[in-house]
Amino acid sequence: MIFFKSEREKFEDELNKAFSDRNKGNIEGAVKHFLNAYEIASKSNDPEINRRAGETIFYATFYDALLKKTPEAFSKAAEQCRKLDPALPLDIGIAAKPTAGELARDLELASMIFSLPRFNINEAVKMDESIAQKYEEVGNILLGEGSRRLILEDLLNIHDSLSSVGFRLLGYARIIRALKIEADNPSKAVELYSEAMAYLQQAPPEVRSFVNDKLGKLSKTTKCWVCHREIQGEEINYIYMPASVNNYIREKYGGEASFLIADGKIAVCRVCYTMVYNLSDALAKRYYELAMKALQEVEARLNARISSLEVRVSAIRVQVGRR
Ligand SMILES: [Zn+2]
Repeated sequence: MIFFKSEREKFEDELNKAFSDRNKGNIEGAVKHFLNAYEIASKSNDPEINRRAGETIFYATFYDALLKKTPEAFSKAAEQCRKLDPALPLDIGIAAKPTAGELARDLELASMIFSLPRFNINEAVKMDESIAQKYEEVGNILLGEGSRRLILEDLLNIHDSLSSVGFRLLGYARIIRALKIEADNPSKAVELYSEAMAYLQQAPPEVRSFVNDKLGKLSKTTKCWVCHREIQGEEINYIYMPASVNNYIREKYGGEASFLIADGKIAVCRVCYTMVYNLSDALAKRYYELAMKALQEVEARLNARISSLEVRVSAIRVQVGRR
């Protein structure tokens, strides 16, 4: 017996397979069956089926976005979601069925979040102002969402409240900007790092300790041991150099400025340090060249003696051969 499935049966069949694959965690399979269901629905003359085309293409783009996790894929899914009736409840495999309107907003936010470069404190110095601006922009939008969490929090593994994600992004923007100006304007950098610290209450510990360390060092003002100029910013505008610091020196001069002597080392501003460094570099080069020149002269003298000895040896050989 030949059995023809009706269009409606085929549509339901594809939809069932799609949800069943989704429930088994086979997301690729789910996307495929949602697309098949969409093909049937979009071409159907049956208004009951045809009106479900939008819903099926939404599910296909939604699960495609969960697979790809790219800003483009999330924005495509958000666009399909916006076309649906905002009150339509959607089955995305979580207990509470969100409406299309609620989910569309989450997908737009997901697209923004996934468009941001990942923040890594060790790479932050290479990030430029355009990235700081993006963090700032998305951070402010997320703050506007308040303390709610994403409906998609489990699917995207983002469990923080949107405002705390937003605050963190504002903190990152300030770190990027502070890193750019800490040598030229340490006081302004201290301001930015202090703001960042306030925003980064829930940031990873390595980011917080980085900012803390910067604040500690940049806030320090001392005098240069060599030129006596006041100078702000440890490791930025001054460094500590090893020197022979005995108790006499420590007691007589240690109180001239705070942080002047630390662990037997003296504070030296970057100008004095680079001056000493460049001078010793030039001296070392000069003595190296003198030593090389003297060596070459010795080598030339030795070579001359070797040649003259070789001539004498071969002359002796010839004499011995004649005997
Ligand atoms: Zn100096």
